[in-house]
Amino acid sequence: MAEMKIYNTLTREKAVFTPLEGNKVRMYVCGMTVYDYCHLGHGRVLVAFDVITRYLRARGYEVTYVRNITDIDDKIIRRAAENGEPIEALTDRMIDAMHEDEARLNVLRPDVEPRATGHIADIIAMVETLVEKGYAYPADNGDVYYRVRRFAEYGKLSNRNPDDMRSGARIEVEEAKEDPLDFVLWKAAKPGEASWPSPWGEGRPGWHIECSAMSTCCLGKSFDIHGGGPDLVFPHHENEIAQSEAATGQHYANVWMHAGALRVNNEKMSKSLGNFFTLREVFEQYDAETVRYLMVSSHYRSPINYAPDSLDDAHRSLVRFYTALEGVTPEQGPVEAQYAERFHAAMDDDFNTPEALATMFDLVRVLNAAKREGAPEAPALAFELKRLGGILGLLDSNPAEFLQGGQPLALSADEIEAYIERRNQARKDKDFAESDRIRDLLADKGITLKDSREGTTWVRA
Ligand SMILES: [Zn+2]
Repeated sequence: MAEMKIYNTLTREKAVFTPLEGNKVRMYVCGMTVYDYCHLGHGRVLVAFDVITRYLRARGYEVTYVRNITDIDDKIIRRAAENGEPIEALTDRMIDAMHEDEARLNVLRPDVEPRATGHIADIIAMVETLVEKGYAYPADNGDVYYRVRRFAEYGKLSNRNPDDMRSGARIEVEEAKEDPLDFVLWKAAKPGEASWPSPWGEGRPGWHIECSAMSTCCLGKSFDIHGGGPDLVFPHHENEIAQSEAATGQHYANVWMHAGALRVNNEKMSKSLGNFFTLREVFEQYDAETVRYLMVSSHYRSPINYAPDSLDDAHRSLVRFYTALEGVTPEQGPVEAQYAERFHAAMDDDFNTPEALATMFDLVRVLNAAKREGAPEAPALAFELKRLGGILGLLDSNPAEFLQGGQPLALSADEIEAYIERRNQARKDKDFAESDRIRDLLADKGITLKDSREGTTWVRA
């Protein structure tokens, strides 16, 4: 079989992937802190590592996919108190919601889903080892800290030098720490907070140590792939390396993979900008396969822009696929090997999904031609198209239903008003191409504009 290349954040280059043990791939991905519903950015990470897992399996690797749940944390404690509910009631509810959202995005569940609160003994044992080895120290305030300067390779993942970090003004000064760079492994409990007994008194784990302990428990001291969202490289993953390699004395994860950012209308998604969406809000407006397609159509390391136009494009692409599949009963049969070969060549090159989809579009053209000509190979071509789509977690719907559903892609009144405002501005600027484009875009969605002296009004068809 051809070689497969993966980009490694640690070495900052694409390299041939070789599992540590035969054809077994052990992969750990940082999961959710379950105090609220999953947002679009979470959805992107979920889909990225789902495609990676599906493709590794399609290639014959035996994958063990572990994704943790952080179910104890400051935000969780605060939210549960605000809601007046026990922590477990909140976290159980959010975990159920996460599983529902995942299922709608056609994301397969990980093989193991450890919860931090289920691994407190392992976490304490790892902190004890770090204290014994001199990499950590209990402070006067009851916290236990990691001694960053003791770990010579600190900064190797995020390419930072501790000396430069020290001069940075953003490091909070905590008097109990020996050095401002040190980070917390174990937090002393405040009165009334959820806590567990430990050699350093009642407390709870810091976030970083949870992942070191859970990944080691589930996958061993060294494993193949560690993944997560773009914002986790520093400090979370840098700290995980420092903890795990100091505690075990062994190389931690071989390949570090990070998904790219998700932006909304070309801005960073944030509550303060008013462009923050949970997955369930998104699913009220767009069907989930369209959202998944948007994510798969970008390379997993590239930024994705979530905007009505890009979702329209995603939906139109799916319509082309399902139109080709409609009216043919897929049946396995001989098909030119070039489609699968090109698909695999693209995916073997650091999971290049845009290239893989381009190959699938070539297959759509051939399938459409076969259907027009009534050629006997149409069922085999349809089978191949669905098979390749399945590796990306796409094209699972019934074509007729997908197309008949018409996928409302309904715009909210606010969004329509925002388009009208953009169109008014374009007209003022005499940019009539842009104003026509917006009018047509709205017409495609069944929104008709009426211009009068009083302004522009709209009706939904
Ligand atoms: Zn983590």
